[in-house]
Amino acid sequence: MANQEDNLFKNVISHAKEYGFIFPSSEIYDGLSAVYDYGQNGSELKNNIKEYWWKFMTLLHDNIVGIDAAIFMHPTIWKASGHVDAFNDPMLDNKDSKKRYRADQLVEGVIEKLEEKIEKEVEKAGKRFENFDRATFMATNPRVLEYQKKIKETKDRLKQTLADGDMVGLKQLIIDLEISDPISGTKNWTDVRQFNLMFSTEMGSIADDANKIYLRPETAQGIFVNFLNVQKTGRMKIPFGIAQIGKAFRNEIVARQFIFRMREFEQMEMQFFVKPGEEMKWYEFWKEKRMRWHQTLGMGAENYRFHDHLNLAHYANAACDIQFNFPMGFRELEGIHSRTDFDLKSHEKFSGKKLQYFDSEVNQNYIPYVVETSVGLDRMFLSILASSYTEEKLEDGSERIVLKIPAALAPNKVAILPLMKKDGLPEKAQEIMDLLKFDFRCFYEEKDAIGKRYRRQDAIGTPYCITIDHQTLQDNTVTIRDRDTMKQERVAISSVNSIIQDSVSMAELLKKI
Ligand code: ATP
Repeated sequence: MANQEDNLFKNVISHAKEYGFIFPSSEIYDGLSAVYDYGQNGSELKNNIKEYWWKFMTLLHDNIVGIDAAIFMHPTIWKASGHVDAFNDPMLDNKDSKKRYRADQLVEGVIEKLEEKIEKEVEKAGKRFENFDRATFMATNPRVLEYQKKIKETKDRLKQTLADGDMVGLKQLIIDLEISDPISGTKNWTDVRQFNLMFSTEMGSIADDANKIYLRPETAQGIFVNFLNVQKTGRMKIPFGIAQIGKAFRNEIVARQFIFRMREFEQMEMQFFVKPGEEMKWYEFWKEKRMRWHQTLGMGAENYRFHDHLNLAHYANAACDIQFNFPMGFRELEGIHSRTDFDLKSHEKFSGKKLQYFDSEVNQNYIPYVVETSVGLDRMFLSILASSYTEEKLEDGSERIVLKIPAALAPNKVAILPLMKKDGLPEKAQEIMDLLKFDFRCFYEEKDAIGKRYRRQDAIGTPYCITIDHQTLQDNTVTIRDRDTMKQERVAISSVNSIIQDSVSMAELLKKI
């Protein structure tokens, strides 16, 4: 990470704590690694992101319904899903720094660097030559060709070793690529070992193996095992989807980068059940839809991109990520997977229960294929927080920090600020609060100079501040201040509701998708 981005990320993290968005878990006991708590503003923002997703799925698609399955599930589910045997990450330690890494991520880091080198060559040549043709340059420049060859070789070896579960081969790849630990700078690595990411615990009082259960590592399985319950009771016809928001748990090896990689996190997943053979059409459909959902937030289309999976998971026949330009670079925000009939078929086998759909149009029973969209709520949160965090220099030479959070997602929609704590201004402000509080989340504050109060609202991303002054008592007008432009306008109290409504409304945001 370049220094500037590094600093920006640090600033975002401390801002999140200072303004009640995110606290380290169990902080008074020195915290718990990769676990975080959401504070008073964070939980509001998080709830609003959930609402944006949930309403998009269940209101805008009349063939998608939502459920809320339990976190604890029958342990055989994780056998059937493949998680007991295959939910492993290859890890290795650097003996000098004592830091643990995911072997595949170290290799992918090398690939990323080579790709960056190619882009630099292209950029250099683009500046040098008029009528520059990227495709011809890529196909003929010896240096680019050499990088491309190395990338292909590395990808092939990584893919092969992962597919074969060949940990010795993976270690050899790390040695051949001369990867050193970014902290110690040495190549003093342990062997690569497989590490299962599921947390387990015991249910009931006897701690024997039969009672061992897992904290779910994904929410998807709660949807699969309820597939027929929902289909039958909801009289759903294929194609249809089941959506769910809930906690998932993974004992991540490399749990760094703030809330990007946590051990307890939340997923927003939707499984879309389709006729076998039609999955690619729906895969493309959902790729496009999900990208639009993200881009509608207005954080810059250039900050999102698709990334096809190099190694398909055991259940998928096509998969990609939507990556976001986080402070540490482009990383996975959402996964879109064509999961075939793997899960339902496997649950049929392990449970002995039929999980088939009767398609009256073709007069046939079949196990549907599934296209999944799975986005991390916490990663969504980080993408919004990081890209809305803005340090601004103002005309008078002062500085302000403002969170330009999409207004519909902002924790508070409006701050109600009596100019002074006397002369009946607080009482008038309270009256206005009583008018608005049913429609918007309002924040009331009467302490400190008004400029200071504006800055505090900027720092938590409140789209509007309403100030009640002496003139308000005479003519029932207030000033309304816009967070982004800082412009103030005097308006009648009776028009405040409609002025705010349009820009902070979730419905209006959803209509733009
Ligand atoms: P990664 O490659 O980053 O480990 P993944 O491919 O294992 O992620 P999925 O299993 O596809 O992730 O999970 C779907 C989504 O859940 C991800 O796109 C991400 O947004 C979120 N997610 C997964 N693991 C974590 C985690 N440890 N902390 C926070 N969010 C996570």
